[in-house]
Amino acid sequence: MCGIVAYIGQKHARDILLEGLKRLEYRGYDSAGIATLEQSRGTQVMQVTRAVGRVANLQTAVDAAGGHLGSAGIAHTRWATHGGVTEKNAHPHRDDGVHGHGIAIIHNGIIENYASVKKYLEEKGHTFTSETDTEVLAHLIGELYRGDLEKAVQAALREVTGAYAIAVLCEKEPDVLVVARKGSPLMIGVGNGEFVVASDASAIVAHTTQAVMLADYSVARITRESFRSTTVDNVPLTSEIRELEFDLEQIELGEFEHFMLKEIFEQPRALRMTLQGRINARTGEITLGGVGEHARKLANARKIVLVGSGTALHACMVTSYLMEDLAKTPTDYDFASEFRYRNPIVEDGTVVIAVSQSGETADTLSALQEAKQRGAMALGIVNVVGSSIARETDAGVYLRVGPEIGVASTKAFTGQVMVGAMLAAYIGRRRYLSNDYVTSFLKELSEIPDKIERVLASSEAIATATAKYIHRENWLFLGRGVNYPVALEGALKLKEISYIHAEGMPAAEMKHGPIALIDEGMPVVFVATRNSQYEKVLANIEEVRARGGHVIAVATEGDEYIKTLAKEVFYVPECPEQLQPLLTVVPLQLLAYHAAVMRGKDVDKPRNLAKSVTVE
Ligand code: GLU
Repeated sequence: MCGIVAYIGQKHARDILLEGLKRLEYRGYDSAGIATLEQSRGTQVMQVTRAVGRVANLQTAVDAAGGHLGSAGIAHTRWATHGGVTEKNAHPHRDDGVHGHGIAIIHNGIIENYASVKKYLEEKGHTFTSETDTEVLAHLIGELYRGDLEKAVQAALREVTGAYAIAVLCEKEPDVLVVARKGSPLMIGVGNGEFVVASDASAIVAHTTQAVMLADYSVARITRESFRSTTVDNVPLTSEIRELEFDLEQIELGEFEHFMLKEIFEQPRALRMTLQGRINARTGEITLGGVGEHARKLANARKIVLVGSGTALHACMVTSYLMEDLAKTPTDYDFASEFRYRNPIVEDGTVVIAVSQSGETADTLSALQEAKQRGAMALGIVNVVGSSIARETDAGVYLRVGPEIGVASTKAFTGQVMVGAMLAAYIGRRRYLSNDYVTSFLKELSEIPDKIERVLASSEAIATATAKYIHRENWLFLGRGVNYPVALEGALKLKEISYIHAEGMPAAEMKHGPIALIDEGMPVVFVATRNSQYEKVLANIEEVRARGGHVIAVATEGDEYIKTLAKEVFYVPECPEQLQPLLTVVPLQLLAYHAAVMRGKDVDKPRNLAKSVTVE
């Protein structure tokens, strides 16, 4: 969520920071700001410029302001949590006023106890100019400042609760940049006589591929020559510099108009990467390096609980069907945010699997921590290598689908389901499944990327069909069994990027209430592929038709009959029931994409949404 870039080195910080913020734009934000520190007539001056809206607005404001010539600086894209979207609330925040030391701070996350800290500071005479929790932290650092910024930051962080990634500069120590993190990602790019700190590798790789992942709950003091990191109690930590595996080309648009479309079309290639070296469709072997040493424990698990948020939760739901079907292990799924706070029953033999694209989703991370504390074995299914969830789990399997830039998740969803399917077969093979069964299952799995390619070929036809309904403000998405989560995902995609109201539900549930909504011409999308519930879905389609609803069906290639019932049919190739979500979700991704484009929406940066949700 939102973004941090900080620089200390020999060059103009301004250019590096603004360019970095542009790279982070995909994460979703509502305002932006920059502070640079430079010498002016013998004294150090902190220059701060902030703007509401896009980084382009900040660029204009910086150009208008002039200056910003220093070689140390911090920059931020804000996703408001405390206080409205205003220039005053945008970061950087300062510790101005009677107690000011010329400190400026940027912050991602939430300071949970900011209200009591604010009261304490107000009693000491501090006054505040914004409604943010961040400004309170700026003042607290100022209050505790005794001539050493690193120590003041450590002392302040000992007093606050919540999640944060911060970067701090101080006019009194122009050669020092202090950064810290707890729960929010932050990495330090190590260059030649310079350091670029960012919440995301994409803002670093243009400058250096050598980076340190800052340990959770630690503070780093960075100068132009070196850096060191410590705990908040000033205990030195060792940090390892590693090579960032990040290809800038992967985050360029290429021939596509939007990242979302690029990522939808990338799915065949991405999923081949997910499978590569992990399955052998001839011998039935599955090699999941990340979980290898825990194979026995997984096979003996008494219960599996999958936790995730948003699209990842839908992947959890699909995976739960696969787990019960293939691994025959009782499996639940839950919203990470609900699991965390409802006193979950975690017994000996419970395995909790956290599913997240970014690996930084705060709700999912805290659900995982809760599960671990209760003694569960913790597994992760994440995309971003080295992310917080990846580091906190006992074992895990990466998606390997490459960076996902579009805020609405697409290839990460299919990647998560693909990994879930492999994991289910992996456990199943160690329990009840025969080698023959697994071999044919893996063969089917390996054919999925090609089959997705066939679905993608109908993108234009899906656009044409979608055009007829985009004026409708209410849609239903219905599916049964393993395609029920796909209905939820189809509705979520449409909501997220086109702002059309859509509900997903089990097809049979419709008649228990929501059927009251159906009127003449209401678009109702059915996932109606050939499987064990096909006949039942057809009956639900009839119920909708009888009330004037317009049926849009996702159906199996060769099903001519469905054309007599549905106004529009999007075909997908045949495949075993358990794997159908990998195909049936694709037309729904395309439908949502085309609807949003036709309605003139900003597909890659939908309003109010952030790519990686690092607040609870
Ligand atoms: N809680 C802070 C604010 O509302 C930081 C939000 C962010 O992560 O951008 O200003």
